[in-house]
Amino acid sequence: MHQLTLAEIARGLADKKFSSEELTKVLLARIAQLDPQLNSFISLTEDLALQQAKAADVRRANGESGALLGAPIAHKDLFCTQGIRTSCGSKMLDNFKAPYDATVVAKLAAAGAVTLGKTNMDEFAMGSANESSYYGAVKNPWNLEHVPGGSSGGSAAAVAARLLPAATGTDTGGSIRQPAALTNLTGLKPTYGRVSRWGMIAYASSLDQGGPLARTAEDCAILLQGMAGFDPQDSTSIDEPVPDYSASLNGSLQGLRIGVPKEYFSAGLDPRIAELIHNSVKELEKLGAVVKEISLPNMQHAIPAYYVIAPAEASSNLSRFDGVRFGYRCEDPKDLTDLYKRSRGEGFGPEVQRRIMVGAYALSAGYYDAYYLKAQKIRRLIKNDFMAAFNEVDIILGPTTPNPAWKLGAKNSDPVAAYLEDVYTITANLAGLPGLSMPAGFVDGLPVGVQLLAPYFQEGRLLNVAHQYQLNTDWHTRTPTGF
Ligand code: GLN
Repeated sequence: MHQLTLAEIARGLADKKFSSEELTKVLLARIAQLDPQLNSFISLTEDLALQQAKAADVRRANGESGALLGAPIAHKDLFCTQGIRTSCGSKMLDNFKAPYDATVVAKLAAAGAVTLGKTNMDEFAMGSANESSYYGAVKNPWNLEHVPGGSSGGSAAAVAARLLPAATGTDTGGSIRQPAALTNLTGLKPTYGRVSRWGMIAYASSLDQGGPLARTAEDCAILLQGMAGFDPQDSTSIDEPVPDYSASLNGSLQGLRIGVPKEYFSAGLDPRIAELIHNSVKELEKLGAVVKEISLPNMQHAIPAYYVIAPAEASSNLSRFDGVRFGYRCEDPKDLTDLYKRSRGEGFGPEVQRRIMVGAYALSAGYYDAYYLKAQKIRRLIKNDFMAAFNEVDIILGPTTPNPAWKLGAKNSDPVAAYLEDVYTITANLAGLPGLSMPAGFVDGLPVGVQLLAPYFQEGRLLNVAHQYQLNTDWHTRTPTGF
């Protein structure tokens, strides 16, 4: 039963082949048995899960239907869950039980999804390897000595290991797409404003966006359908109707114009990944797509701009964790300054402290114009590059990451080496565009992802292309040995 996709689960539940309660028990037992190898969960919510599963079975028995009704999922541990620890992967929030549900959590619960638990993540979503978590690193099910990617590494490892069919993630600079690529999943970062950020603990507010991680594009469509939509409680949420994502999966790719940016194939890209990307292009050409080389001339400035803007916003967002109102408080503070200093010094890990310092520096008087303002100008140039490209093509295709999953600890002494791994993903966040990563092959037994980017609100187009690709390839069906 653990091999079923969300779409198959929906059919099985509708045909009464099994109940949501039975399925939930199977998956909880599987998590108990296998997750100690992976460390993909921070908290399990067995009681809630069984209660939600039983309620979903009653709703189905009463004639209700819906693709998510009774479907088991998990949430990245930065989505607030009422009465349940919401740690953000940090000692700072280890004792924090959220007083309310995030909009995404509430919407999925209302659709009948069953929450199995909260997944491990990089501390405050800062990282690309899931090694900065207070709860320890997550292992990649494809090779337990390698990282699963980050920051949504727990969600990715759990879904890739078939502990559950799908999970939520968030993507500030690649944290859905990159772990999807490194664990052979399909992951979608929606257009900025498509999914509500209310109750999603903020890292960098102008970049953060929640989205689905699953094995197939078809399942991403189902989960996104439950997550997306206008939320008056999030001032950056956009009041646009949500299309039926599953309905658009079967569109023909005849005449689809695919742009491949020449800047993507530079020296930093593993040539074996480049070859797999070219193969995926050929596959899409067979389905009727036309391919064209394009240029994104300002791409080289994306990493420096992102690593100013994201820490700047983080330094502001994380100032609320002061030992007074939320989370960790140091023992026996001498006075208020000591309380602030030691609570933050002891509650935040090294990567978070590094980002706060970089961000506070970039925002400080005298440096604001030179760093933050400059980075914002680069951001506009990057967006303009995309707008020009989308006048010529319908979709942009390239690698999701320059390398496959690296060994645990390999980049720990050099944070900048890890930052460079984000080169292909962060531009979509800077521009606010939707992006998807899907399985495209293997290098040394480790999965490789191909990334698709589309114009604003064209999530349906991304899912359509990915679904057609998946109907004609079998990379996404490969299962890691031992799981
Ligand atoms: N790796 C990037 C960072 O560390 C992106 C993280 C994310 O998308 N949350 O900032």
